[in-house]
Amino acid sequence: MNTYIDIGINLTNKQFYNEHEEIINRAMDNGVDCMILTGTSVRGSQESAEIAKEYPEILFSTAGIHPHEAKSFNGESIHQLRMLLQEDHVISVGECGLDFDRDFSPRPIQEKCYKAQLELSIEVNKPLFLHERSAFTRFNELTDDYLPRLPKAVVHCFTGTLHEARIYLDKGFYLGFTGAISDGKRFKHLEEVIRYIPLDRMMIETDAPYMLPKNMPGMKHRRNEPAFLPYVAQTIAHLKKISISEVAEETSTTARQFFRL
Ligand SMILES: [Zn+2]
Repeated sequence: MNTYIDIGINLTNKQFYNEHEEIINRAMDNGVDCMILTGTSVRGSQESAEIAKEYPEILFSTAGIHPHEAKSFNGESIHQLRMLLQEDHVISVGECGLDFDRDFSPRPIQEKCYKAQLELSIEVNKPLFLHERSAFTRFNELTDDYLPRLPKAVVHCFTGTLHEARIYLDKGFYLGFTGAISDGKRFKHLEEVIRYIPLDRMMIETDAPYMLPKNMPGMKHRRNEPAFLPYVAQTIAHLKKISISEVAEETSTTARQFFRL
């Protein structure tokens, strides 16, 4: 059976309340034998780290503040994230970045919160899990100031253009792809992006409970979960005209090296 690594699951989302064990077991039954829980706030990062600790070598977590949550950023936040990042199973700083699509937090606060986390990643020397939505220019301006000192970085749930993808690759960044790549209506342009990006620079993720793959038979499920990750791999295999086992193997190797798993 093919095995996969899901580099982004929001397991502490309330849609998964009280179902963590079932969700993880179903994922493993489908070959998803390693999962990284996304921390999106200090509290969420603490919860994710606690859950991950109970599943050694299967679950890992990130510690960070999502741009939507930047309004919660305060003088204690970086210290609290730093404490979490001392744990071996907390493997990455993020998710962090800029989101000018919904502007749930004021932009100046998003920027301050993002820069503090870039500095933290340099300090703890753990890779970055980045989020950028409708903020490409400003995101790059801010990030470029730190670029020579930054650890490895992945722009997760990439939905940008081929031009943007190439700019990220030129910076040495990796790209994370979700079920969005199977949405031929909204994200048709991602087909050429997938064909262009080499497997040693891409990783796969569900971003569950969001981003349900469109190529799933019987669209009864509304909520995405890590068990559905093989559908993301299937779309990549189809677009690149390669086997799904190659996608599974190569993206897993890329993720293991990137996150030092
Ligand atoms: Zn995100």
